[in-house]
Amino acid sequence: MENNIYKFLILLFSVLFVTSTTAQRSINSQRPNIIVIMTDDLGYADVGFNGSKDIPTPNIDRIAQQGVVFTNGYTSYSVCSPSRAGFITGRYQQRFGYERNVQHRPNDPNMGLPQDEKTLAEVLKKVGYNTGIIGKWHLGNHISKHPLNRGFDYFYGHLGGGHMYFPKLLTIKDSRTASELETYRTWILENHTPVKTTKYLTDEFSEKAVSFIEQQKSNPFFLFVSYNAPHTPLQASEKYLQRFTHIEDKKRKTYAAMVSAVDDGVGEILNKLKTLGLEENTLVYFLSDNGGPEHRNASDNGPLRAGKSSIYEGGNRVPFAFRWPQKIPQMVYRYPVSALDIYSTVAAVAEVPIEYHKPLDGKNLIPFLTGVNKSRPHQTLFIRKFDDDLFSVIHGDYKLITKKSNKIKEIYDLNNDLSEQNNIAKEHPEIVAKLDSLRINWNNELIDPVFLGLIHTEMWKNRKKKTLENNNHESK
Ligand code: CA
Repeated sequence: MENNIYKFLILLFSVLFVTSTTAQRSINSQRPNIIVIMTDDLGYADVGFNGSKDIPTPNIDRIAQQGVVFTNGYTSYSVCSPSRAGFITGRYQQRFGYERNVQHRPNDPNMGLPQDEKTLAEVLKKVGYNTGIIGKWHLGNHISKHPLNRGFDYFYGHLGGGHMYFPKLLTIKDSRTASELETYRTWILENHTPVKTTKYLTDEFSEKAVSFIEQQKSNPFFLFVSYNAPHTPLQASEKYLQRFTHIEDKKRKTYAAMVSAVDDGVGEILNKLKTLGLEENTLVYFLSDNGGPEHRNASDNGPLRAGKSSIYEGGNRVPFAFRWPQKIPQMVYRYPVSALDIYSTVAAVAEVPIEYHKPLDGKNLIPFLTGVNKSRPHQTLFIRKFDDDLFSVIHGDYKLITKKSNKIKEIYDLNNDLSEQNNIAKEHPEIVAKLDSLRINWNNELIDPVFLGLIHTEMWKNRKKKTLENNNHESK
């Protein structure tokens, strides 16, 4: 009799276990995979879907052609590190004092992303996603900031803001002992272990991204493919250079080759999704972390004024495309959207519970893309650049720029003056007043920067001094 009860209980638990794991699998199988492909310092006009003539990007264009082109896609800052802090938390990074490019300070726990902000990887992990980042991190070098301590299960990349591309140039094994300048030459980290690379870095990253997808094919996954290309140094392998014999300018040619390498990688990622049958239910984002620094890496922001680090459109209006075949039709979407929206959109589709005491600044774009909501996702988008004493406010079609403690105010009608050439502030004091009041209210919600930046390092000051000397020399 007792024996029978045991048998019954074992059977009952087995049934319950099988039922619950099956239910769990079925929930998980409905959750889409997420891939964010972020390039570094790519020009607005340097992708086919934004009209590039001299750099074909057929694979990146597949995302756009099968999904959404955001013509007015902005990042939340115009240089790398703060822009990435915004994307990965879904919040204006000025809210938590992240307004500068981080310094390489492996012993400083305050240099980088604050621990009480939640990364997209951390929240996705909580609902069962497997998470990986391949490429550039740039959110702090202290152990507490390491991707593996910020929600990622797998990391293959470099912690700093840029990197040399050829294996023979990576000569420093231990990044903790490297100087600021030397961080570009450190070995690549696989999780916490320095490893020797064998390929051109962009190819190396593409290969790792593809194998991550292969390994994770049975679980919902979040993969952040964070190419450091086409950030300087301008270095490209022969395989890609020979595609650009039609470009005479050497800098532009190398830059084009670097973009082409990224495009090949994107192709391999998309092909892998297709082969595994994951294409339909995977969200794929493609964007740049900020606009192109045209003089530095020979990028092209097209009609946009200025580039990286600027408050004008070239600074943070970036190539931006999105694909989710199962739910979102092909379209060109013209209302302004933000890289901050990625977090909110992904959190919504992955059913992630959000902590409301730290409100997200992004919007879930799905209702806007399916046509359920026909209004603008954002009434207003802001930037503050604390060290440069600059603000921008985009509200409707108008953009306010303030400089020098708001003594200088400019207004541009972005709908009719994309290149920001015609300052209409004098003719429209009422627009100045409206947008300036929005700016003041937003600024009141922010805090001052909580750590010093790259601009405060000796390396940066010396570089600036050198540039000034060169300019003086040239002008003589
Ligand atoms: Ca960048």
